[in-house]
This record gives sequence, structure tokens and C-alpha cells, in this order.
Amino acid sequence: MLIWEVRGVNFIINLLLLTGFTLLYSWLQRTDFHLQIWERLRGVSQIVLTIGFLVLFHLASELRIMEAHDRQGLGWSYLAFQIGVIIFALFFKRSRWLFLSLTVTLLFWYWWLPNLTWWGYFFVATMIVMGIADRFGYLIIDRPILYYPFCFLFSAPFLWANWISLRGIEVGWVIALAQCFVVYYLLWFIYYQLKRQNERQALLIYEARRDNLTKLSNFRIFTEDLHQAFKEYGENGTQYLLYTFDIDHFKWVNDRYGHLEGNEVLKAVATELNRLLPTISTNSKAYRVGGEEFSFIVFDVETQQGTAEMVADQVRQEIGGLKFITPHDEQFQITISMGQDQVDAEDQNYLDVYKRADQRLYHSKEAGRNRVSTVTQP
Ligand code: GH3
Ligand code: MG
Ligand code: MG
Repeated sequence: MLIWEVRGVNFIINLLLLTGFTLLYSWLQRTDFHLQIWERLRGVSQIVLTIGFLVLFHLASELRIMEAHDRQGLGWSYLAFQIGVIIFALFFKRSRWLFLSLTVTLLFWYWWLPNLTWWGYFFVATMIVMGIADRFGYLIIDRPILYYPFCFLFSAPFLWANWISLRGIEVGWVIALAQCFVVYYLLWFIYYQLKRQNERQALLIYEARRDNLTKLSNFRIFTEDLHQAFKEYGENGTQYLLYTFDIDHFKWVNDRYGHLEGNEVLKAVATELNRLLPTISTNSKAYRVGGEEFSFIVFDVETQQGTAEMVADQVRQEIGGLKFITPHDEQFQITISMGQDQVDAEDQNYLDVYKRADQRLYHSKEAGRNRVSTVTQP
């Protein structure tokens, strides 16, 4: 008969089905649904998917057995995949409801398994390994030396119960365990690839928000944050302040000492800004908004230490105090010109405050550079 051919084809189809399950499951986990109702249904749909696949494999195996008029029939081809579904679901996500749904489903399964008198013990053993998978899954899957032994341990109650119920294992233990091993490897491979993809995506998002040279937030985030601050001002009146400054005669630094030295200056300014900001306000953030232009926002005027003029002048002096030494032992310093303004009840647009601060910055430039123009001292 063609029994081995049927088994082989079944095995491959089931591998593809399991792959489909893992991809759907992780897609549900990561997709940004936009609609609130879908956000709420996310967990439910993952549970439905998991139980649905378990039942699907179960029905397939039952129908195969009925078709073959033989209890041993092809039942074994499906068990490894059911175990795979449970392992992946538990490892990939921690959810009380998922755990509960699996518990109920497996309770029925063990209770239903023919010829299994001591099904309660198998059920309890399964609960224990499921508890471990749920709690420590993310630690286990990162270590192959734990992962594979744990997977076999996890499968033991299922395999054993099935062995008793079907009164034997006609494919032989070696094949049954080899099937399990292929399933574990597939799960690990998919999990690992998804994890790497997540990490790469997180890195890309991080980089899209940062300026590469100084690691400060970039202009895009600057406008996003201004927008958000403007919205909050409209909603609850939280006043915010904007400071923006530009390095004086920076082109000269580049021309005189070279572009690389210019880059060092930009990095040092960013570091100094990061050092100073927490002393200015606990609710503030710095940005590189252009080539040699930086800004910082104090999101709540109440948190600011001192007046706008004091803050602006402190930053001007500290940055002016930085000393740079070139590889050729030349020493130089820089100055900055700053403009500051704050949100106004008349503002129509979140960029209005930036436009005013920028005008003040140019006022500082025209007035001779190395100075600040703030609201209190236009
Ligand atoms: P001002 O006092 O009027 O601001 O004079 P400035 O020379 O600073 O202004 P200008 O706009 O003429 O020159 C800005 C310079 O900043 C020119 C550009 O090469 C330099 N710059 C912009 N981005 C970078 C960068 O990432 N690295 C370096 N090294 N230089 C940069
Ligand atoms: Mg400049
Ligand atoms: Mg400039």
C-alpha cells in the first residue's frame, strides 16, 4: 500500500499548515489595527486561531482514522503538530485567557481519549509543563540547550497518553520523535526569524527618529513633539517654551579645521546640551533641527529653573565655555546665538512658536552674535 507516501505527503502539508499558523498568530500579535474594536479583538482572535488549529488537526486525524478503519491508522501524523501549535502559542505570548482556553480544550481532549483510564495524571502533567512554557518560554527558546530537551519533556504526556490510547505506535518511536524534532526546529526557526525582524524594525524606527551624528532627536521628532505640546496646550493649557540656537561662523570652523573637527564640535554641543537640560527642567528635550542648529523644548513652564533669559544665557555661556583641541594641538572655542519664545493664546498653528523663536535667533545674529533674545528681553 501507499501508506508511507500518504504519511510523507501528510507530514509536509501539516508542516505548511503549522507554518501558516505561526505566521498568522504572530501577524495578529504585531499588526497595528488602527480600529479600537480590532485592538480589543486581537487576543480573542489569537485564541480562536490556536484552538481552531488544534481542532482542525484533531478532526483531520479522526477522519483519517475512520477512513482507515483502524485506530492506529494515521493518528500519529497529527499529534506533533498539535503539540507545536500549543508550544508556539505559549512561547510567543503570555496571556491568562489563552492559557485558560488551552486548559479547557486539553481537559476535554484527555477526558475524551479512548482507553486512557488515568487521564487525570496526564492532564496534570500537561498543566505543569504548560505553566513552565508560559512563564519561562522566552528564556527557554533563546537557549537551544534548554529548548530541545524542554520541548521533548513538554511532549511526553501527550505522546505517552496517545500511545496508551492508540495501543501502540505503528510508525515506531524513532519516526514519531523525529517528527517532533522537525516541528521543534521549525518553530524555533520561525520564532528566531520573527525576533530578528522585530529587532531590525525597532532599530530602523529608532534611527528614523535620531540624528545620526549627535544621536539627538531629529527635526521630524521636533515637529511631532511641538505638535503634541500644542495640542496639550489647547486641551489643558500647559504652557511650553522653545529655545533655538545656531553656532556662529560655523562655516569658518569647517574651513579652518576641517569637516571632521566640525563634526566633533556638533557632537560636543549635543553632549553638553544633554548634560545641561536636566538641570533646566525635568520635562524638556533637545533636538538637532538643522546642520548646526539645535533646539530644546521645556514642555511645562512650571518645571523650569529660572527665567527664560537666565536659561538661555546659561546655555550660551556653557557652550561658549567648551574648549576644542584639534589633532594638531590647535585650541578654539565657539559661540552661539539663541532665540526663545513661548506658546501664545493667539497661535493658530503649532509652528508659530518656532517661527517667532527663529526670528529672535536672527535678531541675535544681526545684533552681533554670541547673544540671546528671549520673550522678556526681545
Ligand atoms: P552664522 O554665524 O551666520 O550662522 O554663520 P555660519 O557659518 O555658522 O552659517 P552658514 O549657514 O554659512 O554655515 C553653516 C555651516 O554648517 C555650513 C555647513 O557646511 C556646516 N554644516 C552643516 N551640517 C554639518 C555637519 O553635519 N557637519 C559639519 N562639519 N558641518 C556642517
Ligand atoms: Mg551658524
Ligand atoms: Mg545655520
